[in-house]
Amino acid sequence: MQGGERYNSISDRLREEFGRKTVKLGIDAGFTCPNRDGTLGYGGCAFCSEGGSGELSAHAEDISGMSESIGIQIERLSGKWPDAAYLAYFQAFTGTYAPVPVLRRRYYEALSDPRISGIVISTRPDCLGEDVLDLLEEINRDHFMWVELGLQTIHRATSDEMGMGYDVSDFDRSCRRLASRGIRVVAHLILGLPGETREMMLGSVKHVASMPVYGVKLHLMNVVKNSRLYGMMPGYTPFDSIDEYVELVTECLEYIPEDITIHRLTGDVPRRYLVSPEWSYKKRTILNGINRRLKEKDIRQGDRCLRMSTEA
Ligand code: SF4
Repeated sequence: MQGGERYNSISDRLREEFGRKTVKLGIDAGFTCPNRDGTLGYGGCAFCSEGGSGELSAHAEDISGMSESIGIQIERLSGKWPDAAYLAYFQAFTGTYAPVPVLRRRYYEALSDPRISGIVISTRPDCLGEDVLDLLEEINRDHFMWVELGLQTIHRATSDEMGMGYDVSDFDRSCRRLASRGIRVVAHLILGLPGETREMMLGSVKHVASMPVYGVKLHLMNVVKNSRLYGMMPGYTPFDSIDEYVELVTECLEYIPEDITIHRLTGDVPRRYLVSPEWSYKKRTILNGINRRLKEKDIRQGDRCLRMSTEA
């Protein structure tokens, strides 16, 4: 962290890496998910939307190909960031769930595009066989890359209730195997899953902070219209107010060592799909609130890790 920064933001680290604003382009490569195609289940995780949580991605198969998908998004973004660097983000569904020759073709298709500077692959921790890891290690040797693993929670009762079909032991194993091959891992956690207390959420954060991760994404739990969760608990509201959420996030940051990059501190669901919390779309307000609270409390990412190691 530098100067007045209070957490280790990935956007700053990417600016250092590529020398300019760096943007992820969501690519829907046409993969599905074992929790949707019947291998493990049909309905998906309870919080997942019909689009496999990739509603912001461009579907590479609906249009004539990867290159066009990339081009459309760059054109959309060029007004806002005319000189940005771009990472191809395999975000929708399970980004490693296809035969390896298909994965190889899709990943290299993206990487061969001269406008793309690297690749980000989001996946379930139970979809990383040896052959997939070999491919990822090969790509990682020559390209900028990280792999995002959807842990969401370390608590078995929650992962079972959400029908995820994997748990923290899958995450731990895959995280270590990726890290041992020199591949950066970014862990996803959801804050506000049904039944979870503040202590349980902090427990998940502390666990991730003890693992060999490059980054952490803290997602505000968003109930979306086309999810199973909405059917199960239509009135569920994860947090009563922005302030309550902001307070929790600032506390989470204190337990994450400062060398771990922070990739997200809130949610990102298009407003037309959002049910609850109804204020979730106010991303800028939430982020400003987090920055203000960090300043008021005069705390920085990792403060409690420092304190814990000093006390030990
Ligand atoms: S693993 Fe991911 S894509 Fe699959 S159902 Fe769960 S959240 Fe959706």
